[in-house]
Amino acid sequence: MRNEGEQSFRGLGVSGGIAIGPAYVIDQTGLLVPEYVVPAAQVEKELKRFHVALAKTQRQLSQLKHKAQTLPAGAEDIVLLLEAYKGMLSGSRLVRGVEEQIEKNRINAPAAIQRQITALKASFAAMDDPYLAARATDVGEVGQRLIRNLMRQQYNPFAEAPEGSVIIAEEITPADAALMNPERVTGFATVLGGAEGHAAIMARALGLPAATGIAGLVEGIQTGDLLIVDGGSGEVIVRPKEAALQHYRQELAEQKRETKRLKSLRNVPAVTSDGTPITLQANLELPREAEAAVDAGAAGIGLLRTEFMFMNRPDLPDEEEQFESLRKLVQDLDGRPATIRTLDVGGEKLATALGEEAESANPALGLRAIRLGLKEPKLLDAQLAAMLRAAAYGPLRILIPMVSSVAQMKQVRERLVQAERRLQRRGVKLPSALPPLGAMIEIPGAALAADALAKVCDFFAIGSNDLTQYTLAIDRGDDQVADLYDPFHPAVLRLIQFTIAAAWRANIPVSLCGEMAGDPQAAALLLGLGLREFSMAPLRLPAVKNAITQTAIPQAVAFAEKVMSMTDEAEIKGLLQKGPQQQVEKRKRG
Ligand code: PEP
Ligand code: MG
Repeated sequence: MRNEGEQSFRGLGVSGGIAIGPAYVIDQTGLLVPEYVVPAAQVEKELKRFHVALAKTQRQLSQLKHKAQTLPAGAEDIVLLLEAYKGMLSGSRLVRGVEEQIEKNRINAPAAIQRQITALKASFAAMDDPYLAARATDVGEVGQRLIRNLMRQQYNPFAEAPEGSVIIAEEITPADAALMNPERVTGFATVLGGAEGHAAIMARALGLPAATGIAGLVEGIQTGDLLIVDGGSGEVIVRPKEAALQHYRQELAEQKRETKRLKSLRNVPAVTSDGTPITLQANLELPREAEAAVDAGAAGIGLLRTEFMFMNRPDLPDEEEQFESLRKLVQDLDGRPATIRTLDVGGEKLATALGEEAESANPALGLRAIRLGLKEPKLLDAQLAAMLRAAAYGPLRILIPMVSSVAQMKQVRERLVQAERRLQRRGVKLPSALPPLGAMIEIPGAALAADALAKVCDFFAIGSNDLTQYTLAIDRGDDQVADLYDPFHPAVLRLIQFTIAAAWRANIPVSLCGEMAGDPQAAALLLGLGLREFSMAPLRLPAVKNAITQTAIPQAVAFAEKVMSMTDEAEIKGLLQKGPQQQVEKRKRG
């Protein structure tokens, strides 16, 4: 039954700002499934692929069930249904039937599921029982979910969304978020997802207000319903009454005025109040965003997440294609430096064409980033070659993600040298010297070994997002533990402090490119710890610059000392909110 009155939901605010517009609810069913015969030698692999999708589907259903349990009374049916769905995925006719199709008939997994759904539906229908007829729909729903997880179907779910829409979905993957066009979409809200997942990062990069982790959202909203999403508080108001609309329209107008004010800082130099120049660079997901970054006043690109060039396509970009887009990026930057990171797939970021290569039971700890690169060197070599060639057209640095050991950096450097030799033999244009090679410091072990890594790295880039995730054992994309995710936890701050100090000792540059770099409240603390290079979503640049120009280095050092002496996370946050000015005033009075 259609709900008519105003209704409000609350989740996590993951990307600030107000979005007002009609809902566009994403329907994730109805995929086209190709069928083919799997070669005999590939049957085992196909079975494994099916089992990985099975486990993933079970995890999703558990998460959805957990969410549904937090709904007010009356939602028990949803919980029971999800429980029944989960039951269909273990030891069931559905699972056995699919396994049989793959093993005996050598049918590819998605088509095997499709066949089994059809067979089960037919047998339920033949029993002429209303209860079983309903189960037929359920089998279809579960099967579609399985197929979706197997195929990661190429389609742009937002292509049909009318201009100004607010997207509502169960989940938005980083690859989905990369397809959102901020000129058409005004914001989004989802049932699943945490604040530091890459979909949330993309939302902030695109300036799209977003809220995640909202139970009951998809059931409570229909396409066309008017919505307000407050990406700061995480509130979503459906079919708002006039009072709420007026309030949020005013906020929206205020937000636009503030954005305009901050934009006027574009040409103000990033210098502390006592004259220390600070490098403020931009994080990019796609090379084509470079112009917007320069427009926002970025001194260069501190992080290009190249994995987004691999998403939403059925094939892999080859060396030539990668070279062309990097060369264009470097040229568009007109002498400003670009730091290009090698592929960081695995974890929550998946590239369709890599299939199950990057799948593991525990993805965040599995074959992610440089681990995959060194295991599948063809991919890494093509990237290194493309980067080397692009470095002939402007300043470029190569950054390696998820480094945990000195040996990995040595292996990568060796591959870079070999790539250069191959390119020399091909006679292509190359830079006069190898570009600087650096490591992301985003695993606690790497931070603790920063002194040793500094000997084999030309620079460091601290990834505070993963450093927080791995130090505190908090899945950065999981809304259920999002309240425990805290980059200002003393343990994370100590690792950042140690890494910056190790870089200074070794005399190599160090930047920070996690979301913390874009938080104006973190600026004085990071300056005080010795950081001089920040890289962030372009939209964050003006606010951080504003904070930097109001801070003097000795004041920042005193502030950082005070923060580092604290052990209570809430107190640290309180102090960061007050800022260094307050701190110095107190000292003067005392
Ligand atoms: C990080 O981990 O802080 C980082 C910048 O890398 P990503 O967010 O792409 O994992
Ligand atoms: Mg990272």
